[in-house]
Amino acid sequence: MTAGAWLSHARARLASVAGAQAAREARLILAHVTGWSATRVALEGGAALTPEGLSAAEAALARRLAREPLAQILGAWGFYGRSFRVTRDTLVPRPDTETLVDLALARPFERLIDLGTGTGAIAVTLLAERDGATGVASDISAAALAVAGENAAAHGVAGRLRRVEADWWDGVDGVFDLVVSNPPYVTGAEYATLAPEVTDWEPRGALTPGGDGLSAYRAILDGLGSRLLPGGRCLVEIGARQGEAVAALFTAAGLDAVAVHPDINGKPRVVEGWMPKRHGAG
Ligand code: GLN
Repeated sequence: MTAGAWLSHARARLASVAGAQAAREARLILAHVTGWSATRVALEGGAALTPEGLSAAEAALARRLAREPLAQILGAWGFYGRSFRVTRDTLVPRPDTETLVDLALARPFERLIDLGTGTGAIAVTLLAERDGATGVASDISAAALAVAGENAAAHGVAGRLRRVEADWWDGVDGVFDLVVSNPPYVTGAEYATLAPEVTDWEPRGALTPGGDGLSAYRAILDGLGSRLLPGGRCLVEIGARQGEAVAALFTAAGLDAVAVHPDINGKPRVVEGWMPKRHGAG
């Protein structure tokens, strides 16, 4: 079978699970199993697939048709221009979260913590983009921290990123001038409505704390006073309907200049707040 013939067969089968992404997913699967670049896959429709290539492509297609996320099948996913290893123990990095990275990089920082780091996408990207900064990546899941460690090494920042197994602040020490997190924020009710790729394959604890979806923000803000330096900044990702509630929690926690920032689709996506400078400290 030629690459082109396999792509049209795969695209048709994927339409029901991947919708508008079917053609792109078929190309990514073929590139993954053949080792070809995405360009070569797109251009060499006439090339014959080896029997091994064909059976690997069919196996990956079957997994995708069983609603496994493509990122887990490929074992890696792009975020902010870099490839991150992804497993069943980690949330798949989403483009929404690039908004948080852009906001973090808009101001100086030297020492960050990424609470609930998962793949490490946020912490690793920030350290890769900001030479000389150091940080901590925490997670309650040792399996996720192992993946974050692979990603830190792959992107050359392992020497500047300490990984800590911790339940939010419980288990963390040190102080930071930047606190970032993409915590679980989906409400218990919303979680039940998510796609099977999410509910059957991604870690539930990375997506929802249950209830009103706000308990992780409360835990993060509770410990902030002793960990975020005066003049330091806190940035958290939020669900599109949580801007007002999370901004109110930030203000109640004593943070200044609290702002809700939109993502590239114009939806509220990140809440920012600053730790007041101490009196007399300027
Ligand atoms: N944006 C994710 C989703 O709904 C949620 C991520 C999170 O809870 N941090 O798919």
